[in-house]
Amino acid sequence: MRDLMQHWEMRVSHIIDHAAKYHPNRPIISRSVEGPIETTNWAGIHEGARKTAQALTASGLKPGEAVGVMAWNTARHLKVWYGVSGAGCVLHTLNPRLSADQLVYIINHAEDRMLMVDPDLAPVIAAIADRLETVKQYVILTDRAHMPDHLPGALCYEEWIGAEDGDFAWVEGDEREACGICYTSGTTGNPKGVVYTHRSNMLHALAASAPDCVNLSSRDVLMPVVPLFHANGWSLAYTAPMNGAAMVMPGRDMTPAALYEMLEHGVTLTAAVPTIWLGMLRYLKEGGKSFSTLKRVVIGGSSCPRAVIEAFQNDYGVQVLHAWGMTETSPLGSTGSLKPEVASLDDEAKLDIQCTVGHPPFTVDLKITDDSGEELPWDGAGQGKLWVRGPGVVRRYLKAEKDAAEPDGWFDTGDVATMDANAYVRITDRSKDVIKSGGEWISSIDMENAAVGHPGVAEAAAVGVPHPKWDERPILVCVKAPGENPDPEDIIELASKGLAKWQRPDDVLFVDELPHTATGKISKLHLRQRLKEMDYK
Ligand code: ADP
Repeated sequence: MRDLMQHWEMRVSHIIDHAAKYHPNRPIISRSVEGPIETTNWAGIHEGARKTAQALTASGLKPGEAVGVMAWNTARHLKVWYGVSGAGCVLHTLNPRLSADQLVYIINHAEDRMLMVDPDLAPVIAAIADRLETVKQYVILTDRAHMPDHLPGALCYEEWIGAEDGDFAWVEGDEREACGICYTSGTTGNPKGVVYTHRSNMLHALAASAPDCVNLSSRDVLMPVVPLFHANGWSLAYTAPMNGAAMVMPGRDMTPAALYEMLEHGVTLTAAVPTIWLGMLRYLKEGGKSFSTLKRVVIGGSSCPRAVIEAFQNDYGVQVLHAWGMTETSPLGSTGSLKPEVASLDDEAKLDIQCTVGHPPFTVDLKITDDSGEELPWDGAGQGKLWVRGPGVVRRYLKAEKDAAEPDGWFDTGDVATMDANAYVRITDRSKDVIKSGGEWISSIDMENAAVGHPGVAEAAAVGVPHPKWDERPILVCVKAPGENPDPEDIIELASKGLAKWQRPDDVLFVDELPHTATGKISKLHLRQRLKEMDYK
């Protein structure tokens, strides 16, 4: 009786076929890199993807070869997204904010045969082109009129695919073949390549679509502010067409005004890191604006401050879904929907729950352990190492000699967390950022989130500085909000709420700006280095 049901290799091309066949007219509104806002639909993306795959094949690209793509969130990027994997090639997303050395390293390491680049990013590639060992061809993602003159010999995307008729059958293959590569930003050592398979992307997108996770439907209009090059684009370029949702693509202008303009094109659901929303909330407040259609916002990538959740929900009627994940987990590992056990709590207690990063969807398994590897109870108090396993979790990094995960699948996230009786996870730190004072851990994340609740604080980082008696003592390094001059004592007071006396930050240091990683997170590594250079005591 075995194997009597049909077998589909879970290739991501099925996703775009489905969207084009059953939701062909759903609009895809996109701010093009050239400037104008353009509209197409899933049928148009499908056609463009087939032409892209056809052009790739005609240009000699072979299944299994990597194609690097450095592009903003646009409709053209979606065509490339499905075109590359539809040709059987491997889509290597490139973050333009990486350093030149890191870009050279990852392009050579992934052995990209071709690079597709937005026209404004051509100079980034031109500056490193002579160090790229495997790239045979460049394609600029624009039309003839907007071709830059960097990268001589580069093809013009619209002409390149314009020569094709779109009569192309997707390259078939095993669902475990590589579909995409995304490198972690590598704050220490070289970046590490996570290689998603067609299967892992499909399973992850199915899991992410569920009501307790991102909850997407054909009635939604989704705007991914998070770039498609950051952590598999949070899988949104898969979940939206899989569910027939419309999309708004914001392009390269990440200013609050530009993003707001795009959100007002009927967007019901959006997603980005907390810093984007801090800027947006300030913009809305100053301009007395509100959202016409936005209902939900997914916030993750770093911890979302309580003040942001409160403002979205109380002032603008937008529900916040706090999410945790990593490049290594495809990336969604947990989302903060309210289970029945907590749905009837009062508003403050519900907010407490929303400040956690929620619980895992199907396909994700989590545990926390102490230093000796013993599993900790889910009591909401004991902090330990957070581990994850599942079909969307990395087993081994590209070209690594040994597995990154344990033989039983558990992967050490590098995060420190608690879990409560209902499996809600609270991330308290990254293990390398933990502040240890007098043998006890102090959560830098809690302290930072509280500090940015002060209207005079734009950004805050809590770090441990060496102390002769206590090992380390926490201090806050803050950037003032424009035109504000907050009292350090007030910030300390706010950041110490609910903390024991010994956990209070000792000092507040104001700086003009904090160092950030390529994915926009505060780089504690660089901050600690700076404090050392300043000889801060
Ligand atoms: P990178 O390290 O390259 O920026 P990732 O997106 O893979 O890329 O980073 C994953 C890490 O981001 C997690 O291990 C965790 O430390 C942090 N993170 C992600 N989401 C959250 C969240 N909601 N709260 C706290 N930390 C988060």
